[in-house]
Amino acid sequence: MTTRILHTADLAIAADLLRQGELVAFPTETVYGLGANALNEAAVRRVYEVKGRPTDNPMIVHVHSCQQARELMQVVPDFFSELTNEFWPGPLTLIVKHNAAVPDVVTAGLDTVALRIPDLRVTRDLLRLANIPLAAPSANISGRPSPTTAEQVFNDLNGRISAVLDGGPCPLGIESTVLDLTSAEPTILRPGTVTREDLEDVTQSRVYFAETNSDRPLSPGMKYRHYAPRAELKIIPWNDLVESMLRDTCTAVRQHVEAGRRVGLMAPDSFRGCGETHWYSLGAGLAVDYARLLYAGMRELDEAGAEVILCPGIEAEGIGLAVMNRLLKAGEIQ
Ligand code: AMP
Ligand code: MG
Repeated sequence: MTTRILHTADLAIAADLLRQGELVAFPTETVYGLGANALNEAAVRRVYEVKGRPTDNPMIVHVHSCQQARELMQVVPDFFSELTNEFWPGPLTLIVKHNAAVPDVVTAGLDTVALRIPDLRVTRDLLRLANIPLAAPSANISGRPSPTTAEQVFNDLNGRISAVLDGGPCPLGIESTVLDLTSAEPTILRPGTVTREDLEDVTQSRVYFAETNSDRPLSPGMKYRHYAPRAELKIIPWNDLVESMLRDTCTAVRQHVEAGRRVGLMAPDSFRGCGETHWYSLGAGLAVDYARLLYAGMRELDEAGAEVILCPGIEAEGIGLAVMNRLLKAGEIQ
């Protein structure tokens, strides 16, 4: 199979392929998704195969409207309307009880399903044209960093999927916030760019974080190591003094270089020039810059041949919390 690269003018082709049960990767505002007709069991099963994704890790179902979401739900939980009014389309995935329309293979046998409306014009046009819900995990080989360009999808999945729809680089760059609405308290299973504070403002309720180290993770995906580059990733612990972050980073770079390793430094522009072998800019270093560039940086430094990637941490507040969650899943503190 050769994987076709489709453009926004080819939406009808992409929609037809999906309706026929083929796999098509598509852009969203978060990362590229590997889409399949969520109502077609065989198609969804192929997504797990192609990605090498553990079959106990359920998928997010993407829809074009709240009405289409409701058609998959058993009951509409508290806060659903308030949250969707404010955040849909957008990077917020809601976990709700599903009805019999949703095949087990999508949800890994759970009685809940993850739903969202993505906020990219081309994606919503595709969802409307196809007029089927699309099950779509990130369009990478399992364990690799999520792709934020069509080219990265192609590099991972060429020959294994029918097509990739090229909609340019993803504007946000990290995966959606996952919020469980099925328990008494709204609970964040995965942090993202919709923050706890954003959710509390809208629900006027406390919002909780799931215990990440509990024996029974609420979100099956949380138990897997994710998003990792091939190189070892070392994170310089954050503190609020820029000078000391710079000093710590340069010290770590030098230590690894002296140990004879090819060091990739992925950091805000002001950190450039510590003696690193390879450099990747995280722009001005705001949390949104980290989010947008993080995965592309891991992939680029891998390709450049870095053996260790160093990255200064940021404050784990707001969007920074989601960024640090992804960094710590991909690597460890230096
Ligand atoms: P991905 O699409 O690869 O970014 O992963 C989707 C995330 O949502 C994973 O962490 C899944 O475990 C999680 N998820 C999907 N469906 C459910 C569900 N029904 N209940 C809890 N978590 C879910
Ligand atoms: Mg993923």
